[in-house]
Amino acid sequence: MAGDGGKQEARKDMATKKQGGSSSRTIRKDGLIVVTGAGGFIGGALVRYFWDKGFTRIRAVDKKPLYDWYQRTPGVECVSADLSERENCTRVCQDAWEIYNLAADMGGMGFIERFRVECLRSVLVNTHMTEAAWRAGAERYFFSSSACAYNTELQKDPKAIALKESDAYPAMAERGYGWEKLFSEMVCQEYWAERGMKTYIARFHNVYGPWGTWDGGREKAPAAICRKVIEAKETGKLAIEIWGTGEQTRSFMFIEDCVKGIDMITHCEELTAVPINLGSSELLSINALVSLAEEIGGVRLKRRYDLGAPQGVAGRNSDNTFIKKVLGWEPSTPFRAGLTKTYRWIEQQYKDRRAGRRTVRDTV
Ligand code: NAD
Repeated sequence: MAGDGGKQEARKDMATKKQGGSSSRTIRKDGLIVVTGAGGFIGGALVRYFWDKGFTRIRAVDKKPLYDWYQRTPGVECVSADLSERENCTRVCQDAWEIYNLAADMGGMGFIERFRVECLRSVLVNTHMTEAAWRAGAERYFFSSSACAYNTELQKDPKAIALKESDAYPAMAERGYGWEKLFSEMVCQEYWAERGMKTYIARFHNVYGPWGTWDGGREKAPAAICRKVIEAKETGKLAIEIWGTGEQTRSFMFIEDCVKGIDMITHCEELTAVPINLGSSELLSINALVSLAEEIGGVRLKRRYDLGAPQGVAGRNSDNTFIKKVLGWEPSTPFRAGLTKTYRWIEQQYKDRRAGRRTVRDTV
């Protein structure tokens, strides 16, 4: 960047001028909200959240065919389109007031350790979506980043240090998935710095809850463990396989906290183009998660540890100092309460599926 100081200053100046007060939302209940990845877990929940808040124009987009979406909110425009194609991004961003990009090829450790190319290719979605959003003159653009963007060197001990926002650099993100997130964050930051489009970036730490993926290979630890406990109970084979030693630690955020946090972050002027953690700071080990799921299910299982299975970093927690300072809020649903709801929901899904009943949510 040598010799580029004047330009940088000009950009900073432009960005500062565009920042208003500390928090603002011109509520336009008829402004068009576009949510991508809406056939998936978080996008689907976000659509429902905005609808329930009274927003009347929502365009939900996902590459999956409509019958495969986890949730479809009645009254919402649902579009099936692959957003790695530029033309589709242009089309879905038309007339958009706010855009929330939650589309990515992703899953739990079993998926992101095995399918790094698929994860990296999600870069196409954010690259085309930011450009299309900017061309459409969107007011705000949200990007769903991940704790996988953090430096993996800091996550080798199960007695995890809580990761603060500055710990992403010097960069050594999770191979594939984490690097895609880190790069896409930078794209968002530069669309603000150079082009003045307001972008917002949250680094999610493991999200769980009803209407999430619970089988098929993309599910994350809380859903996978609930399913295994339910399966063990249903089949009478009272054993469970755990990936790794079970001593890995993580924090898990309940979906209701996640969608509320997305809304708050996207409407906080101080957070324009500033990546922020969105996660719970309640740390627990995978073994503790299994014990809790067993307790909810009322069963005790024999544990088998698969040390060759994907297990990710040894320990990771969210440092919530910054979010508490800037929003006066942090995700706070106790894990026990959130897991109980999730377990009951997966149990119902499991039984419905075995009985050949539909498991999509498309009613109010
Ligand atoms: P999900 O897999 O349930 O939903 C993602 C959706 O994006 C899927 O329905 C998928 O079909 C869609 N998609 C993928 N590629 C697309 C494309 N080219 N065009 C259109 N749609 C496409 O995942 P999720 O848990 O809801 O995650 C949402 C976002 O949050 C993702 O960006 C993910 O990386 C991020 N995130 C999630 C977690 C978590 O714990 N769930 C943690 C960190 C970050």
